[in-house]
Amino acid sequence: MIVARQIGELNRARIDLGGDSLGFGFVPTMGALHAGHLSLVALAKQKSDRVVVSIYVNPTQFGPNEDFARYPRTPEKDLEMLEAAGVDLVWMPRAADMYEPNEMITVDPGPVGNTYEGAIRPGHFRGVLTVVAKLFHQIRPTVAVFGQKDGQQLFLIKKMVRELQFPLDVVSGETLREADGLAKSSRNIFLKRGEREAAPALFQALSHGFELIKRGEREVSVIEQAMQHELKNDEMSIDYLTCVQQSDFSRPEIIEGQGLLIGAVRLGSVRLIDNLIWGDNYSELIDDSTG
Ligand code: AMP
Repeated sequence: MIVARQIGELNRARIDLGGDSLGFGFVPTMGALHAGHLSLVALAKQKSDRVVVSIYVNPTQFGPNEDFARYPRTPEKDLEMLEAAGVDLVWMPRAADMYEPNEMITVDPGPVGNTYEGAIRPGHFRGVLTVVAKLFHQIRPTVAVFGQKDGQQLFLIKKMVRELQFPLDVVSGETLREADGLAKSSRNIFLKRGEREAAPALFQALSHGFELIKRGEREVSVIEQAMQHELKNDEMSIDYLTCVQQSDFSRPEIIEGQGLLIGAVRLGSVRLIDNLIWGDNYSELIDDSTG
């Protein structure tokens, strides 16, 4: 496994690994890796000849009062995990390889960039799309793999790739969960014991919404209320808990076609986000997705 820490090393490694004659699968991450990230690596391996993983905690997607400084960083362990997973190349850029001192150009995420996660975290998706666009130019992947866990991010990256005509396919990997349903996340280590016990409530509320839809409920306000009721927990405050449609990530009054049940809550010092897909998966048992 090659570890590139400067852009020259990355370019050389890319050529040594076969250059443009081969398909590169790319998994961008912020490190502090867990089994969810490795499942995306496995998917990238299936879809391409070579697998590249980036580890970069991108400052521009964190707000001024967010957790950039305390975001977990475990580079040695990450490299061991990626080596064991058969990754060909790890890109661990320095800040200077990603940003110039006075940058003026960013990728505008459009209206969906200001809703839900974007409403709570102003500028977040601008930061995400800008860094992902840069990473795409640096790596030149044929396939990029993102987690369904960050559903709004996935929506916006697919949009960016389509509308800005990046020559690659975006593939999504399903959300890996703990045995009790909590979506795996690098930030879960910050949950205190009582909080960790309460944390699966978000997945349970979303699952309850999913069950209602499966049983035929189509009115979004009814589903929202039922999910809120299910979540009711003194330790948690809800940022949002609703249904959006796949086509434009907006909230319909009545469910039709395909979309997501999305939720975000605050629990102690941690924000949890999660989602479930509705629309073409009603025959799946919810237990199947807790793997
Ligand atoms: P991050 O955790 O922010 O470094 O995310 C890197 C990639 O891993 C993103 O595409 C995430 O959507 C994805 N990811 C995060 N958590 C999970 C999970 N529990 N299961 C699958 N993919 C995940």
